[in-house]
Amino acid sequence: MSVFKDLYSKLSISNDQFIRTTDKKIHHPGVIKLWEKLVESGDIYKKKYKGLYCTGCEIFKTEKELENGKCPNHPTREITEIEEENYFFRLSRYRDQLKELLKNNEYKIIPDTRKNEILSFLEEARDISFSRPRTSLNWGIPVPGDDEHVMYVWCDALSNYITGAGYGRDDELLNSLWPADVHVIGKDILRFHAAFWPAMLISADIPIPKVLFVHGFILSQGTKMGKSTGNVIEPFDQIEKYGVDPFRYYILQAMPIAGDGEYSEDLIKERINMDLVGNFSNFCYRVLSFTAKNYESVISEIDNDPVISEISAKIDVIKKSYEAFDFKKAIQEILAVSDLGNGYFQKKEPWKSKEISKSVLGTCVNICKNLAILFQPIMPGISEQLFRQLNLDQLTWDNLGFDLKDHRIGKPEILLKRV
Ligand SMILES: [Zn+2]
Repeated sequence: MSVFKDLYSKLSISNDQFIRTTDKKIHHPGVIKLWEKLVESGDIYKKKYKGLYCTGCEIFKTEKELENGKCPNHPTREITEIEEENYFFRLSRYRDQLKELLKNNEYKIIPDTRKNEILSFLEEARDISFSRPRTSLNWGIPVPGDDEHVMYVWCDALSNYITGAGYGRDDELLNSLWPADVHVIGKDILRFHAAFWPAMLISADIPIPKVLFVHGFILSQGTKMGKSTGNVIEPFDQIEKYGVDPFRYYILQAMPIAGDGEYSEDLIKERINMDLVGNFSNFCYRVLSFTAKNYESVISEIDNDPVISEISAKIDVIKKSYEAFDFKKAIQEILAVSDLGNGYFQKKEPWKSKEISKSVLGTCVNICKNLAILFQPIMPGISEQLFRQLNLDQLTWDNLGFDLKDHRIGKPEILLKRV
């Protein structure tokens, strides 16, 4: 677990809760409360169950999920057929309600391909096995009122999203945090999170998350990384080598909204050199060093060139792309803003006339300001450096636009170097 905590901090990702499902103080009281709520709703019942079980995953598999009769994740283990009496959760009761919520976007799944996958799963979703006999799974949380059974992962693990936010111990905290604005998951755990979990929440009379954002995998040499494939890339090494911001930049620009992204060192180098250095960093350095050298670091006015309306239109698209979690698209458009800046600087040839060019630099410094704001979620460190060079406090979306006049910039420095 410490490896995940370390990685988060190395990636400049903050978190205010990190929960383990073995946590008896924060987690268990909420799990038990949730189970009891589901019982109250009449959605838990006991039934004999026969299924194919993988001891590696500790879950039941369907025929379809196996490859040559083996679990794809545990090919060396035998799949065993188990018959036992289990508690079940009445998922089937919530099929239609969930479909309605998805269709009118009250529960929004992004991207659409994943939403459609869940809509078709819900067509014939059956009730799910919700407990295991204690004899076969000795470490689970006991089912309230029945010591012979322990809870199966669904109630035990999925519930961490609300127990972490206070469910079962602090209602005030829960109400201030829940429902989640967005729940982020990988595509391999879609069914549990997009069908089982919201059904459980509805049954327990708890609001469901507003949005579920489902991302793809980061591939290496075209396939999923794995020890046996020998294509594992260690993020720690890459962050060390290329820096956290370029690494974040690369990952987000490589991931299409509805698919997988490829990681390789050749690719990250190419993107750093072409996008970040060749386009973005060079533009900012050119503008700021020119202003420092020729105008004593002061801008006073803005040139009302059509480039301003072109960039303003791009800014609207970028905001929408961020709202839609389409980071790849947002990045493309931010680079287009930088491109427009470069083209404008080149066309105006400010080195030719100092007096006429004063307003050109004013406009260009404003473009740099906009770039610092727009890149902030993706490259917070680089963005902070650029704000410092612009002699500005960290600005927000409200400060986008071309209103910076009569302003003294800070000391220009090269933001990023070629690799
Ligand atoms: Zn398995």
